[in-house]
Amino acid sequence: MVTNTKLIHHHYSPPKGFKAPQEPTYQASTVIFPSVSAMRSTEWKNKSGYTYGLHGTPTTFTLEERLASIEGALHCQLVPSGLAAIALVNLSLLRSGDEVLLPSNAYGPSTALAQGELARYGITHKVYDPMSLNDLAQKISPQTRLVWLEAPGSVTMEFPDLLALTELCKERGVTSALDNTWGAGIAFNAFDLNGKGLGVDLTIQALTKYASGGGDVLMGCICTRNPELDNHIKLTHMRLGLGVGAADVQAVLRSLPSMALRYKAQDASARFLANALTSQSVVAQVLHPSLKECPGHEHWQACCASSEPQANEHQGGGYEGRGYEVSDSQGIQGIQGNAASIFSVIFKPEFSQAQVDKFCDSLQYFKIGYSWGGPMSLVVPYDLDTIRPPQHSQHTTLLARGRLVRLCIGLEDSADLLDDLKRSIQTAFH
Ligand SMILES: *Cc1c(COP(=O)(O)O)cnc(C)c1O
Repeated sequence: MVTNTKLIHHHYSPPKGFKAPQEPTYQASTVIFPSVSAMRSTEWKNKSGYTYGLHGTPTTFTLEERLASIEGALHCQLVPSGLAAIALVNLSLLRSGDEVLLPSNAYGPSTALAQGELARYGITHKVYDPMSLNDLAQKISPQTRLVWLEAPGSVTMEFPDLLALTELCKERGVTSALDNTWGAGIAFNAFDLNGKGLGVDLTIQALTKYASGGGDVLMGCICTRNPELDNHIKLTHMRLGLGVGAADVQAVLRSLPSMALRYKAQDASARFLANALTSQSVVAQVLHPSLKECPGHEHWQACCASSEPQANEHQGGGYEGRGYEVSDSQGIQGIQGNAASIFSVIFKPEFSQAQVDKFCDSLQYFKIGYSWGGPMSLVVPYDLDTIRPPQHSQHTTLLARGRLVRLCIGLEDSADLLDDLKRSIQTAFH
C-alpha cells in the first residue's frame, strides 16, 4: 500500500466500549454504506439510518431527540438559526394564495420575511393584536393557513392568553406555530397548555439563546407532536438543504445539561433587577411579565406560574421544572413560576433619546448587542413608535409613553448588575 492510500485506508480501529460524559461528535458530509444494497435500502426520514450528512448524523439525531423531550414534543428538526426555523415553517406549510397571521409584537425579522419573500411568492399576511382574542377571531379567514404566536411578545413583553388563542386556532382548523424561544421548553409546555393535551401544533426555538447559552452559536429547531407536519417540514428541509455543522451541534449538546439551571438563575436575577428598577424615579414602566404593570401579567401567571409542585400531577405531563424555587444572594426567596431573563424598561417621556443612549453607553457590565440567553448581560435601545405603530394594535395603549431599553440578564452577580444600572441612571439622567 502506498503512503497516500495508507493515510486514508488504515487498518487500525480503536477498541469498542469507550464511554465518557459527552457523546462523541460525528462529522460527515459523506456517509459510508457497507454495501450497495444497504445504500439502496437505507431510510433516513424515520431516523432508522444514515444516508448523507444533510439528512442527519448520530450527533444531530441525539440533539434533536433531547430537544423534543425538553419541549414536550415527539419530533424535532435542527436548522442553522432561529430565523431559518421560522422561514422553514412558512415555506413548508404555505403556498401561493394562502394567508399567514402574525402577532403585532412578533420577532421583527419574522414580519420582514412575510413582507419580503412570502409576499413575492403570493402569500399574504395580516397582523393581529395578540392581546385580543376577538381580533384574531375576526382576522382568521378561509385563506388563513397558519397563525404565529409568541409568548411574551418581543421587546414589549405583553403575555397573550396563549391557551385561548391556541383553542381558537384549533376550532377554526388553522395550524398554530409558537416561537418558543422565551419559554425554551422550561417555562411551560407548549404542547400541553391545559394539562389535557391541548397545545400548539408546532414550536420553533432560537437555540442561539438558552440552549447554546454561550453567545457563540447560531442554531434553531422546529418541534411538533404531529407526524404529518413533521414529514412536510422534513421534506422541505431536505429540498432546501438546511444543514447544521457538527461542531455547533456538539457545542449545544455540551451546554444543554446546564440549561434549566442557567434559565432559573438568570430568571431570578432578572426578576430581582426588574423589581428594583420599578422604584427608580426616572422609570415610567418596567415590562416583565411577572410584574402586575406588564400587559398580560395574569396570562403569564396562568401559563408559567403554577406554584404547587404537585400541580404537575393534577395537570398531567407538565414540565417537571414548574414551580421551581430559587433563592439568591440578594435574598429572593421562592420566586414563583418561570420567566426568561429578558425585560424592557420605559423611561419617562421627559428624557431625550440622547440621555437614553448615554445610559446604555455608560453601562459597564451590560454590553450593547442583540441576542440574549448567554453569560453576558446585554442592552439595546428600541424606538417604540417604529417597532409598535399604534395603528397596528390597541395593546400599545397599555404601555407608558417614553423611550424603551431592553435588558438581557446574563450570569453575572445581580448586585453588581444593579450597581451598574443605578450608576448609569445617575450619569445619564441626573
Ligand atoms: C433570536 C430570536 C430569533 C432568531 O434566532 P436567530 O438564531 O438569531 O436567527 C427568533 N425568535 C426570537 C423570539 C428570538 O429571540
